[in-house]
Amino acid sequence: MARISARRVKTHRSYTFFQLADLLGVTVGTVRRWCKAGLPHVSDARPYLIQGSDFHAFHKAKLSKKKTPLKTFEVYCLGCHAARTPEPGLVEAEPIDAERDCIMAICPTCAGLTRLIISRRDLRKWAGKYGFAYNTREHA
Ligand SMILES: [Zn+2]
Repeated sequence: MARISARRVKTHRSYTFFQLADLLGVTVGTVRRWCKAGLPHVSDARPYLIQGSDFHAFHKAKLSKKKTPLKTFEVYCLGCHAARTPEPGLVEAEPIDAERDCIMAICPTCAGLTRLIISRRDLRKWAGKYGFAYNTREHA
């Protein structure tokens, strides 16, 4: 799962196995394996659908297994390949769904944009430390 272009997958869309495989340049068998490995999918009707947001959470979790866990208020910079603590004023949050938010921060070392998916209960902590405004309006 190292070289797929996850950013092609839109958070607020859902995909059939075939659509997702096509988009990412992998086989449908790979998508099925991801589902067996825990990628959530809607299976009460055919075709089975995968939510873009679920894919991103799954992809991120897969990637993070290879890395040292982040401490509170750290983000992983893909440019530096390292954990970084962003500077105040360079952090924003955006809701992903009812339970999760995406922290977007500028890396203090390389100035690249970093993203971190956090649970809603951690959002207040981040907002308190970094002083950004947030809204938890759901994108269903
Ligand atoms: Zn960086």
